[in-house]
This record gives sequence, C-alpha cells and structure tokens, in this order.
Amino acid sequence: MESIKELYKIGRGPSSSHTIGPEKACLVFKERNSDADFFKVTLYGSLAKTGKGHGTDVVIQKAFAPCNCEVEFNCVETVLPHPNTLELLAFTEGEVVDSARVFSIGGGSIVFEDSEEIQKEKIYNLCKFADIAAYCEQKSIRLWEYALEVEDDDFFKYMLYVWEAMKNSIKSGLADSGTLPGGLEVQKKAQYLFSSQHIDESAETREHRMVCSYAFAVGEQNASGERIVTAPTCGAAGVVPAVLLYQQEKHRFSDERIVQALITAGIIGNIIKTNGSISGAECGCQAEIGSACAMAAAALAELFGLSLDKIEYAAEIAIEHHLGLTCDPICGLVQIPCIERNAVAAMRAINAVSLASFLWNTRKISFDSIVKTMKETGRDIHTSYKETSEAGLAKINIQ
Ligand code: SF4
Repeated sequence: MESIKELYKIGRGPSSSHTIGPEKACLVFKERNSDADFFKVTLYGSLAKTGKGHGTDVVIQKAFAPCNCEVEFNCVETVLPHPNTLELLAFTEGEVVDSARVFSIGGGSIVFEDSEEIQKEKIYNLCKFADIAAYCEQKSIRLWEYALEVEDDDFFKYMLYVWEAMKNSIKSGLADSGTLPGGLEVQKKAQYLFSSQHIDESAETREHRMVCSYAFAVGEQNASGERIVTAPTCGAAGVVPAVLLYQQEKHRFSDERIVQALITAGIIGNIIKTNGSISGAECGCQAEIGSACAMAAAALAELFGLSLDKIEYAAEIAIEHHLGLTCDPICGLVQIPCIERNAVAAMRAINAVSLASFLWNTRKISFDSIVKTMKETGRDIHTSYKETSEAGLAKINIQ
C-alpha cells in the first residue's frame, strides 16, 4: 500500500477524481513540456459525462495557464482502459510534440499509462486487515502505531496539518451561507443546522444536529470549490472530520489523539483503496461514501480505545450497509445527493461503532471479505450509475 499521505490530500473540490487528479496530471504534463505553446486535453468516460458539472475543464485550463488549452468532452468512446481517462497533447508551433494517456483512479491519485513517474512507492508490505491485525496483536500495538513504524519521520506532523485543514473546512463551512454554484440553486444549510437549536432538544438530537452540520459544512465547502481534505475523496470529505470534531469537542480529546484516530482511519481507507476501490466512477458511491463511513467508524472506535476486533467489525458494518450504493449526482454536480449523504454516513459510522462494541463476538464477515464484495458489487453496477449522471437520481426533474 502507498503512504497514508496519498489518501489525505489537501486541495480544492468538488471532486478528487474530476478536479484534483486531472489538475495534477496537467501540471506534470505541463512541466515536462515547458516549451510547448498550446495544449489539448480530451476527457473520456465519467470525466466526459460529468466533467462539466464538476468543473474539470475550468481546472484544466487554469493548470495550463498562461498557455491556452482546448478541452474536449468525448462521450462517444466507450471502450476505455479506465472510466476516468484523459488524453493530453502538447503542441509547439502547431506540431504535436508530446502525448500522454492518464487515468484518474480516485482520491486524487493518477496513473500515467506509459510511465512510472508519478506512481507512488508501495511502502506497506501488509495490505489485508487480517495480516495487519495479526502483526499488531503479536507486537501489542495499535493500528496507528503500525503506520508510524512504516511511514517517514514527517508523517505525524503532516497528519496534524491534515487535521487542522479539516477543522478549518468545517469552520469555513459553518460561517458560509447563500446558494451553491452550478445552477441548481441549492441552499447552503450547515449554518442553519448548526444554529437551529430546539427549545427542548435532547442530547441525542443535539448530537445528530452537530455532527450533520459539520458534515454539511465540509460538503458545501467542497461543492463551492474551496479547500478540503480528501477522506478518502472530495465528495465524501465531510464524514470523517464531522465525526471526529464532534467527539473532540465532547470529550476534549487532544489533536494528537485525534490524529491517532485519523491514522487508524487511513489504514482502513488504504486497505479499501488497495483491495477494493475509492472511486465513484469505478464502483459507485459505496466506494466513496461507504469507504468514508468505514474510515470514520474505525477512527471513532480507535478514539474510544476499542479492540482490534471491534474496530474491524465497526468498519465492516459501515461498508456492508453501503453495498450497492449508486453514484448519480444531479447535473453532475457534487451536491445532490452528495452533501446530505455525508451527514447520513457520519451518523451511520457512529451507529456502526455502537453496534460493534456490543456485538463484536457475533461477527460472521471479515473486513477483508466485505472490501472484496464491495469491489465485485461495484463492477456489476451498471455503468450509468457510476458517476455518469445518466440514471437514477440524476434523471429526477428537481424544482
Ligand atoms: S454520489 Fe457519492 S460517489 Fe457520486 S459524486 Fe456524490 S459523493 Fe461522490
């Protein structure tokens, strides 16, 4: 597995595969063609079908500025090596001087078809939860301590920075109001949720409202193209921070303790990324929101000091009950259902931990098996339900 740093990327929304990944590909291509005077990028598959709504063309043109870049959306070609494929051409005085085919594989990660240049080093030898858990048990260490053994010396510092960025995205989202860009006239609701206290509100209702307002805050910042942290993707970026910030405020956990939980979530996300998928275009929303929910459940279980078995069960429950979830955002914008879905998944992560803490010794399904099942399910989901905005919710005429 790659470094957990590759999972938590700080960047602008609204989509890790449609904005952060393509932007990175263009910047690398521009740097290797610094003498070129014109660029052309063709988007295929899901990038072509929902790229407009996600603002992929705008991000690409900004990446190549001040050089001009033409962006073409090719929705005709269907036989593709990856559902998020880009072709890049560099020109000098009208002649093609370089070309590349790049796949945006989810979570902002990219792969150049013919080059190893930005493929990240696999630094984790153990890629299955069962193997990592056995190692941790043998050494009597927590999951996050295993990550610290593998990652470099700057890792914990980077993760503190990630946590700071997550908190800032919640803070900015709560301070924001008005409507989201894109034309759907979707109201920003985080601030309203945060401040709408009922007169006789129970502690449970307040908890739900707070957690949901934090998840909305990040989702709305993402939809506005503001800075967020992929966890594991832009569209699902609100789940993990919402759960963790609420618990930090409630129990006064230190930032260091929260980072230990974030690292635990990172191990879970990394296992899914390696053995399953975190890409909506590849496996539907189960791979984005389902993965985020599993990460948040594992993080919360770590915060509560639960055993490895309970952490595994909580993460397994979270994935299991997102199996088959489709990705069909209206107009290709990461707004409906994405933002609300972050809030629902945050609550579900809390429920998963609660169930796991009571029922852990009745568990029948391993985390590794559910990740495999999620990938198989994702492959069987019809393409039109995998970030193309051609089916399901995307067909509803909203008022
Ligand atoms: S529906 Fe889910 S996978 Fe699709 S863009 Fe929204 S959050 Fe991402």
